[in-house]
Amino acid sequence: MPAVKEYSVEEKLSSLVKLQKIDSKLDQIQILKGELPMEVSDLEDEIQGLTSRKNRIEEEINGITDFIEQKKNAIKEAAEMVSKYEKQSEAVKNSREFEAINKEIEMQQLEGKLAEKHIRDANEELAEKVKQLEHANKQIASKETVLNGKKADLEKIIAETEKEEQQYSQLATDARKGMDDRLLYSYDRIRKSYRNGLAVVPVDRDACGGCYNAIPPQKQSEIKQRKKVMVCENCGRILVDDDLNNSVEIA
Ligand SMILES: [Zn+2]
Repeated sequence: MPAVKEYSVEEKLSSLVKLQKIDSKLDQIQILKGELPMEVSDLEDEIQGLTSRKNRIEEEINGITDFIEQKKNAIKEAAEMVSKYEKQSEAVKNSREFEAINKEIEMQQLEGKLAEKHIRDANEELAEKVKQLEHANKQIASKETVLNGKKADLEKIIAETEKEEQQYSQLATDARKGMDDRLLYSYDRIRKSYRNGLAVVPVDRDACGGCYNAIPPQKQSEIKQRKKVMVCENCGRILVDDDLNNSVEIA
């Protein structure tokens, strides 16, 4: 078994501060990307929804257009029937036949009128649908403009930060090597429980640098001695003195 180097508490604290600084840099890169990845996928979803709406409206417009065509044919057929009956009425033999043909003519004229009314109603509906379609098209176009802008921003940030992110990820991996497992476990657990990702904080103006809870002078002097890993009573973060925090550089 290789000899394991025993680190002093001070060295352990320095390693923790270093890891925290590296992880904070990685956090900053994520913050820079910010909401963009989510905004892009939200916009893509919205555009998909609007496009299916647009497709539905187009289908409805096609349906109404077909209906109008059918009604136009019905008017033509009715008119043809009317002229057919009118011709027949010239050759009627008695008034009963004449009346029967006149009834047929009236019926066909009514059919024609009804079809005209259907066409008028359908045209109104069609105009409404065309308006809806225009609105949907406008919405899609404006969302696409926003989406393209956000995509370009995100790609730019990714291009700018990719190298940096890789460097810091490597540094973080290196920094973790040789660190105390239990300490790393606590560090990760605390880090995950806070949105700002801070697990190791300096004492700042007599207060915890994480939650700003006051640290009594006795505790502060213990922290400065660097003989024990001290945590904030209020937030549980690992506390280091300001000098130690400032002396640690990432690379
Ligand atoms: Zn605290």
